[in-house]
Amino acid sequence: MRLVLLGPPGAGKGTQAQRLGLAHLSTGDMLRAAVRDGTQLGRQAKAYMDAGELVPDTLIVGVLVDALPEDQFVLDGFPRTVGQAVALKRAGCEIDRVVQIETPDDEVVRRIAGRAAEAAVARADDNEETVRARLAVYHEQTAPVADFYDSEGLLRRVAGTGSPDDVHARIRAALG
Ligand code: AMP
Repeated sequence: MRLVLLGPPGAGKGTQAQRLGLAHLSTGDMLRAAVRDGTQLGRQAKAYMDAGELVPDTLIVGVLVDALPEDQFVLDGFPRTVGQAVALKRAGCEIDRVVQIETPDDEVVRRIAGRAAEAAVARADDNEETVRARLAVYHEQTAPVADFYDSEGLLRRVAGTGSPDDVHARIRAALG
């Protein structure tokens, strides 16, 4: 199964991806590691991430494609633009299923404020102003990715409300 999890920041994509028992690739985690390690990618990506903007497709697509396992994986945070979805396909990677976790904007802001308060080391982009910027980017640039996969017949939508167990059960049901 080659799976993509879509959804706004704070929808629980990372939590849900980890529970599926597949290799889990998160471009956000890869980029944060690059920033921490001070690599060239990290130095190029940091200002975009701190502002809540997407890093340019040219920076992230090659890194993700190189890290892809042959089969059996879940992508979390990629593709974020229709350009990235097309690039994935051009690289020969056929996705089997896409699950969009739907979470209302006010719930996203509430959850990320809670996540920031609990974290030992706060994420630089988990403050309210940046969360609003990330939500705007999601609606403008990432929501069309759902339409792209819907037109290919791959998209399933699940509600992101309730507990992580509730959402997990919905994802399992959507995967059949
Ligand atoms: P995330 O942890 O997925 O919310 O990602 C954190 C930040 O990393 C995002 O706000 C973007 O700045 C950047 N990022 C992660 N994945 C991508 C991607 N596929 N394309 C562009 N930027 C990304």
